[in-house]
Amino acid sequence: MKKRLHLLILSLLIVSAAFAQYTSSANSQFMSYKKEFMERFWKINPDWATNSGYHKYDSILPVPNVQQRSKELVFYKKELKKLSTFPYDKLSDLNKIDYKILENELQKYIWQLEVLKEFEWNPSYFNAGGTFSYILSENYSPIKKRLSDFYIRLKNVPAYYEAAKATIKNPSKEHLQLAIEQNEGSLSIFENDYIDSVKLMHFSKEKEATYLKRGQKAVAAIKSYIQFLKEYQTDSARSFRLGSDLYADKFRYDIQSQFTVDEIYKAAVDRKQYLHQEMFKLSAQLWPKYFNNTPMSTDSLAVIKKVIDTISVQHVKPEDFQAEIEKQLPELTAFVAKKDLIYMDPDKPLKVRKEPAYMAGVAGASMSSPGPYEKNGTAYYNVGTLEGWEPERAESYLREYNKYVLQILNIHEAIPGHYVQLVYSNKSPSIIKAVFGNGAMIEGWAVYSELMMLENGYGNNEPEMWLMYYKWNLRATCNTILDIGVHTKNMSKEDAMDLLSRQAFQQKAEAEGKWNRVQLTSVQLCSYFTGFYEIIQLRETYKKSKASAFNVKHFNEDFLGFGSSPVKYIRQILVPGY
Ligand code: ZN
Ligand code: ZN
Repeated sequence: MKKRLHLLILSLLIVSAAFAQYTSSANSQFMSYKKEFMERFWKINPDWATNSGYHKYDSILPVPNVQQRSKELVFYKKELKKLSTFPYDKLSDLNKIDYKILENELQKYIWQLEVLKEFEWNPSYFNAGGTFSYILSENYSPIKKRLSDFYIRLKNVPAYYEAAKATIKNPSKEHLQLAIEQNEGSLSIFENDYIDSVKLMHFSKEKEATYLKRGQKAVAAIKSYIQFLKEYQTDSARSFRLGSDLYADKFRYDIQSQFTVDEIYKAAVDRKQYLHQEMFKLSAQLWPKYFNNTPMSTDSLAVIKKVIDTISVQHVKPEDFQAEIEKQLPELTAFVAKKDLIYMDPDKPLKVRKEPAYMAGVAGASMSSPGPYEKNGTAYYNVGTLEGWEPERAESYLREYNKYVLQILNIHEAIPGHYVQLVYSNKSPSIIKAVFGNGAMIEGWAVYSELMMLENGYGNNEPEMWLMYYKWNLRATCNTILDIGVHTKNMSKEDAMDLLSRQAFQQKAEAEGKWNRVQLTSVQLCSYFTGFYEIIQLRETYKKSKASAFNVKHFNEDFLGFGSSPVKYIRQILVPGY
């Protein structure tokens, strides 16, 4: 009897050892697949490779024609098939996330090529400038090598823009205009920056002339594309609105939320209502401080607006905008350390710089963080300049980014928002998560970090700070209502402006800018609120699961430890069974 039992245990041990071996071989095979996949992926996406800090294909500019697109389609379908041969259930938690992320990416590219076809209707899809500028301005290898890659890469620019012209079909007039502006913005890279760099090399006269000539041909190609766009005639321009079907697909692939478009729309509308209530309470509390005995209006939104407008006049001078941002960053770092909110690597520096020309047109301040292959690269905080702005426009912008909101912007973009998250993401051992970061998780983290700082006493719980925070959070919330409304519910410009100006208290310049942006992009504006909403819910559940052992630093570090994964997958690991 005893012996039989012993044998049984032994055979169980053998079985489980074999199982473990099978499991670990599935994982190690999957690890090598990921590595090999990335090699193949970069080869077919050299632009993306360069911008991710993988510099093997810097000299290659693919011509975006029909042949190139069918090559890509075949590639993605083949990879999807390969991926499906891995036993998902045998993979580790982290590999399961990578599997899901990869599967989603591949399905997304196939959908983009077969269904969305943005290259046909969005002419700003074609703009060679960004990567060329990156090669010239990022100091990842000696200028001689970078300039040589730049020169080889230049050769395809005329063919690139010819393919663009042949691809465009019935674009929306909004995307047409954007493409003109962005390609005009790219000209200076070839007309100025490249020429300056070539001259500094002190090449032989002949070599210099060859280099410059190729630059001139690129300039001519871009100008010809701009001319083509300016002269583009169509009787039935496509609407800039994406429509419900494409929108639902795009939301699923880009946001990767546990919620549907309808659920997120409803959550945003509820959040807006909650914020209005809280803002009214604070405004009523602040009223006597700013208006003494003046009677309050019976319209609660009008009361909030009057208080906000009064507080908003506290702002920096246009010429001090960038300096003020630079001054605040060390203060935010000190607060995070003092309150022990999250570990920050002191060896990863952050620098503020004027927004490069090729970025202009869509956003006001943004982070450029070192990519997954640039462990020692510099993180840049890009700030749009107010130089040359009409005084009225500058004043409107500065009231929007007043004394309080500018601090929240810095929390969001830099510390402990995007900058800190991206440093964690780059430390993540998974190349898949580092490269195919989930935008909703990334934006959601930045939006969550604002609330987290205020909850922990940033701004000394001043009602003005909370009121401005709520206004800022209302912006992320209304971004979602706006985006879904405009692209799937035919929201008019008039209704959009009412939402942004009257209900979200935005200055005219801000609201106009947002209206421009929602015409040119879709789904991306939902990432802020959706990610925020999912992270707050996850933190609540995490809190319950840890009970008295809960600590916000642990949550923050645990959460960021999975790299830029969709929140729904982090949730499955952090709070299994909840
Ligand atoms: Zn002013
Ligand atoms: Zn952001």
